[in-house]
Amino acid sequence: AKVGGRNQLRFFDPSMTRDLVRKKEIETELRSAILRDELSIFFQPIVDLKTGRIRTFEALVRWFHPEKGELRPDEFIPVAEETGVIITLGNWITAQAAKAAAQWPDDVTLAVNLSPLQIRAPGAALGILNALRDAGLPPHRLELEVTESLFMDDSENTARFMQELSAAGVNFALDDFGTGYSSLGYINNFPFKKIKVDRSFVSGPHIGRKSDAIIRAVAEMGSTLEMEIVAEGLETVEQVQAVSAAGCTLGQGYYFSRAVPDFLAAMLLAQERDG
Ligand code: C2E
Ligand code: CA
Ligand code: CA
Ligand code: CA
Repeated sequence: AKVGGRNQLRFFDPSMTRDLVRKKEIETELRSAILRDELSIFFQPIVDLKTGRIRTFEALVRWFHPEKGELRPDEFIPVAEETGVIITLGNWITAQAAKAAAQWPDDVTLAVNLSPLQIRAPGAALGILNALRDAGLPPHRLELEVTESLFMDDSENTARFMQELSAAGVNFALDDFGTGYSSLGYINNFPFKKIKVDRSFVSGPHIGRKSDAIIRAVAEMGSTLEMEIVAEGLETVEQVQAVSAAGCTLGQGYYFSRAVPDFLAAMLLAQERDG
């Protein structure tokens, strides 16, 4: 082939080749990363905005690559989803996180992110319950964070999955709220206990007038429907005050803490209970 029109140029774009090579590399290496002990789970606190106490830790995966250094989940989770590696990876994450959480006080819950592909595997719900049993974590202490993308392909299967786990006591949170479409339908039809308002609503040093009105409306709906509203991405005291005033009950973000390793999470909890 020769370099002809504009459209063909992209075949020779070196940055695109680099992206493909990098993706292929990530796929291959991700498969062995678990065995080589390169992945670990970090925990970010979700704080009660009234009392300041930690109510939940969200499990966030980290990959410490021997050559590439620390890789962010945004770099490898999408690859894991495209290649199906997310199923193995997701099982591992749930099992590891549940083991750590079983050491925390009874009133502290664990939040785990779930990719759509993970629930399509047959026996997915049972697999999660088995992982909890093995770790000694009661189902009511697990919250699964899902996004609206979960409902795109097979909402019947999704409904069955959620019903099965809800019946066992597992709770669900709707993640990245406000970034997708028809969210209200999902809230109406599926058993969500929490809504996490996406951090794009609180970005910047202050909260804009529009975002503030939206957060207020969501918080109002939350209190009527007895759902908790989590404000994500809180970085400044002004943001914390604004979302509290708007009626959010829970907050998460660098203002409180970044995601930390399991021993630090346990230390934060111990500190809280001492003083
Ligand atoms: P997410 O579920 O929305 O997680 C919140 C992300 O926001 C985390 O990024 C967290 O570190 C970051 N964050 C928290 N507070 C702040 C803040 O105050 N300011 C800013 N700028 N960022 C904040 P992280 O850990 O890089 O994860 C990115 C995404 O990757 C997650 O978004 C989630 O969609 C996905 N992910 C992470 N861990 C897992 C996992 O174990 N399984 C699955 N399926 N997805 C995961
Ligand atoms: Ca999340
Ligand atoms: Ca989120
Ligand atoms: Ca996200």
